[in-house]
Amino acid sequence: MRCRVCKGPIVIELRQHNAAFCEEHFLRFCRDQTARSIKKFDMFGTDDRILVAVSGGKDSLALWDILLDLGYTADGLVLGLGIGEYSESSTEFARTFARDRDATLHEINLQESYRFDVPTAARETGRVPCSACGLSKRHLFDKTALELGYDVVVTGHNLDDEAAVLFGNTIRWKDDYLARQAPVLPARAGFPRKAKPLVRLGEREMAAYCLLRGIDYIVEECPMAEGNKHLEYKALLNELERTSPGAKMQFYFGFLDRAARHFEPEDAVEHLISACVRCGSPANGEVCSFCRLAERAAPVVLLPTRSGRDS
Ligand code: SF4
Ligand SMILES: [Zn+2]
Ligand SMILES: [Zn+2]
Repeated sequence: MRCRVCKGPIVIELRQHNAAFCEEHFLRFCRDQTARSIKKFDMFGTDDRILVAVSGGKDSLALWDILLDLGYTADGLVLGLGIGEYSESSTEFARTFARDRDATLHEINLQESYRFDVPTAARETGRVPCSACGLSKRHLFDKTALELGYDVVVTGHNLDDEAAVLFGNTIRWKDDYLARQAPVLPARAGFPRKAKPLVRLGEREMAAYCLLRGIDYIVEECPMAEGNKHLEYKALLNELERTSPGAKMQFYFGFLDRAARHFEPEDAVEHLISACVRCGSPANGEVCSFCRLAERAAPVVLLPTRSGRDS
């Protein structure tokens, strides 16, 4: 096989696109696919300030790299989740990336700012680790973006992630989650705009992108991911993709084109009684879910009223 564009030797074959590319044209393909999603879903413009939710993994670092390359103003935020060596290494990869590109990286360490970490929060509240972690991440990314005046928070969710989430939400018919499956969610009171510019690219492409661009990232899976249903759904969809190339794209984009409109977003904000008395974030009662989690995970410490951050 030869490169679809220049007919030169290839570095990757993409069966779902019935195409293969050389290094130069594969990197261009990744940028083009990202730019196409940004435009099609009207995610953000060149005047917007973008906050990249950085995990230290391939997707978020590749996304940050592509956005900088495309000329966007994109800073990163990495959270120290306190998941042992995994968190330390992840943060270090994010720091190295930012240093190499002279990019701005904000950091929030859960333990330093809130006196708890994800394993403790999960243990003390009886939540599964990913639930405590997801709640903390959403809260801190949203809050930081609003406080620092970013227009949009972008995450590195790729096609494999989104197809797996859609699969899980569909087999259980979770209407409220299906309503929030779109690759861009508008800003609401107390929440910034959110976007997922990598929805046209898969895990394999992102790993290849990082390899070719010399981006080092954390390869190991999070040790707390065990039992996470999404990994199971990803494996199922990978098997399907193996025999039916393009199945994931058809499933996910078919949903967006044909079915998403039938799931009206529930306007959760209308049900909010007030701003959280501790941190000011939207809350269902006096105290928001994150502050409730933090109080149970670190009960003896008075919570700060504003999230801490460095650099
Ligand atoms: S796998 Fe779960 S616990 Fe680990 S970083 Fe992801 S959401 Fe957090
Ligand atoms: Zn080529
Ligand atoms: Zn709060």
